[in-house]
Amino acid sequence: MGSFVGYRCSICNKDYAPDEVQYSCPHDGGNLDVILDYSTIKKTVTSQQIFQSTEASLWRYLPILPVGEPGFKDTPFHRAGDTPVFATSGLGKEFGIQKLWVKDESRNPTASFKDRASAVVVARAREILAEVVVTASTGNAGAALAGMAAAVGQKAIIFAPRTAPPAKIAQLLVFGAQVILVDGNYDSAFDLTIEAASEFGWYCRNTGYNPFTAEGKKTAAFEIWEWWETAGKKFSDNHNLVVFVSVGDGNIISGIHKGFKDLQALGWLERMPRIIGVQAAGSAAIANAYFMGNEKIIPVAANTLADSISVDFPRDGVRAIRAIRETNGTYITVEDEEILKAIAALGKVGIFAEPAGATSYAGFVKAAQNGVIYSNDTILVLNTGSGLKDVKAAMQAVQEAPIIEPSMEALKHFLERTNG
Ligand SMILES: *Cc1c(COP(=O)(O)O)cnc(C)c1O
Ligand SMILES: [Zn+2]
Repeated sequence: MGSFVGYRCSICNKDYAPDEVQYSCPHDGGNLDVILDYSTIKKTVTSQQIFQSTEASLWRYLPILPVGEPGFKDTPFHRAGDTPVFATSGLGKEFGIQKLWVKDESRNPTASFKDRASAVVVARAREILAEVVVTASTGNAGAALAGMAAAVGQKAIIFAPRTAPPAKIAQLLVFGAQVILVDGNYDSAFDLTIEAASEFGWYCRNTGYNPFTAEGKKTAAFEIWEWWETAGKKFSDNHNLVVFVSVGDGNIISGIHKGFKDLQALGWLERMPRIIGVQAAGSAAIANAYFMGNEKIIPVAANTLADSISVDFPRDGVRAIRAIRETNGTYITVEDEEILKAIAALGKVGIFAEPAGATSYAGFVKAAQNGVIYSNDTILVLNTGSGLKDVKAAMQAVQEAPIIEPSMEALKHFLERTNG
C-alpha cells in the first residue's frame, strides 16, 4: 500500500492522486492505470524473497499491490490465486507444439479467474470503509465478488443478465449476495450498476471501470513469471514464452499486461512474453478494432455460447489492444464450434473448462495451424473458468452416454455392438 501513489489515464495520460478519483478518468472516461512507486517496492522486497514466500495465494505479491494486508487469513478470501500450471501430455504435438502448459484458473475459490479481481477490490472496499460493494456480471465476476464478500462479511449486490447459466446464479444466491437479475444483456446490467452505485453511494467493482480489478488480475502475470523463472524456463531452449488469454471486456488481458510491465519496471523480467488475445467470433469488438489498425472500439451485437466473454461494448478495449501490440502478440477469433472442440480436448488431459475458459485453447489451435507460433515456443494457455459453471455447454461438447438395462446380458450386448 505504501507504494500506491496514484492513477494515470490510459487515454489522456493525466495523473490523479489516490483520493482524487475512484473509477475512470473524469475528462474522457479512459481506464485508469494504478501507479506504483517502484523504487519503494524495490526497497521492500526482492524477487528472491517472493520466490521463497510460503504464502499460497495472490497475497504473496502484497508489496506489488495497491492495498495493505487485508487479514482474514484463514478464509476463502485469502485463497485466491496460486493456481497450478499443468503439463498436457502431448496435447500440443498434434499441432507441432512440443511445450504446452495450461494454467488452471478454475482452481480459484469460486472457480474462475475473477476471484483475483474481486479479492483485491474487496480489500480496497474495506480500506475505504465501503458499506456495499456492487457489480454487474455475466456471472463469474458476481460469483467471485459474492464469495469473497461472504468470506469477510461484506455486503454485496450483484446485477446479472437473467440468461446467465443457472450454476452461476446459484453461486450468487448461495453466497448470500443480494441478486438482481435484469431482463437484458450484460451491457445493460453494466450501465444500470454504474448509475445505481453513484445514486446510492455503493462501491462499484465493474470490470473495466474500477482500476483495482486489473491490479488483482495482474497477479496471474506474477505467477506466470514465477513459474517461468523457477520451472518453465528450464524446458525452453530459446526462452520464448507465449501466453493465450480469452478476451471479453479485455480486463484480464490488460491486467496481465500490467503485471508484466510492473515486473519489467522492477527489473525482474528478462523478456516480455508474447500475449495473444482470443475472442469469440460472435463477440469480437476488440479483435475487430485491432485488425482495423486503431483503438476505436465499435460495439457489436454479441452472440456466442461463451457467456463470460459475450460483450457488446468491451470496457477495457484500448488497453486490451495495447497489451498485444506492445508484446508482439495478436488477436485470434474462434467460432463456437471450435470452442466446444476445445472443451473436449482439454477434458482429455483432465481439465474441465467452461466455454470462455476453453476459448484460449481454441485460439492456440488456430495460432499453431496458422503459423502464428513456432514449434520451439513455450505455450501457456489460461483456462479462466470451470466447466461446472455451465454444464449445458459441456454436454454440447461431448457424445451423450448410452443407457442400458442393469444386467450383464445387456452390458455384453452393448459392448459387442460398440466395440465390434
Ligand atoms: C470474465 C471472463 C473472461 C474474460 O475476461 P475480460 O476481462 O472480460 O476480458 C474470460 N473467461 C472467463 C471464464 C471469464 O469469467
Ligand atoms: Zn483521461
